[in-house]
Amino acid sequence: MVDIRSVHKSFGSQQVLKGIDLQVRSGQVTVVLGPSGSGKSTLLRTINHLEKVDRGAIHVDGTLVGYRRSGDRLRELPEREVLKQRTRIGFVFQNFHLFPHLTVLENIVEAPVSVQKRPRAEAEAAARRLLERVGLADKADAYPRRLSGGQQQRVAIARALALEPRLLLFDEPTSALDPELVGEVLDVIKDLARQGTTMIVVTHEIGFAREVADTVVFMDDGRIIEQGPPSEVLDRPRHERTRAFLSKVL
Ligand code: ATP
Ligand code: MG
Repeated sequence: MVDIRSVHKSFGSQQVLKGIDLQVRSGQVTVVLGPSGSGKSTLLRTINHLEKVDRGAIHVDGTLVGYRRSGDRLRELPEREVLKQRTRIGFVFQNFHLFPHLTVLENIVEAPVSVQKRPRAEAEAAARRLLERVGLADKADAYPRRLSGGQQQRVAIARALALEPRLLLFDEPTSALDPELVGEVLDVIKDLARQGTTMIVVTHEIGFAREVADTVVFMDDGRIIEQGPPSEVLDRPRHERTRAFLSKVL
């Protein structure tokens, strides 16, 4: 489903991704761990071409992200095509990124109507079903500022799901939340996992990783240092750097 090969990325002279190889199979959940600055967010952002890679290639569902082949060269896709690709890859950010001037329902139907050209009535009906799924059926007409952080994040998840993505990317979805609100958001993500949604989740919630991840990936300094099932990476890490990191977050 996701095939990341030899991805390199620099900002100026700073190499942030130093050759990332990662495969995620359909229906699987991959949790990415690693210290601050190790390149986790940058990696997620390359997957939907919010950042261009300098070298390497990413395929999602067999489609090359951000480029098309022209002979033996790669040409960047026009912005319109990139946007279309991006609608099939949901992205949930740490700080929710809801539109403050739109109601919850309007936040969810915005992209399906304006990007996917779905009829508004159909998009609204789908949005209400999604709100029910994230436990917010009664908040359709509220504005984001009236919601708790946990509720806002659940709306952000519903909004990502509204585009019927093949893949969901989460960048520290609970790290901006008060501790008592973390569980309600993780429960929604767990539910998605149970239904077979393919996801890559950057998080430091080790309990969540242990329970939900098929694969745990540990990144440090732009590289994947180790990866495997949670029972290996979390309970019997082979690398000193993984052990040092886990001893800090556990
Ligand atoms: P955190 O846990 O703090 O979120 P991270 O693992 O997500 O860290 P990244 O955000 O991917 O790390 O950043 C990796 C490095 O790349 C950092 O040193 C950061 O300063 C740098 N970086 C990220 N984005 C940019 C950018 N747009 N321009 C310049 N440098 C950047
Ligand atoms: Mg980050």
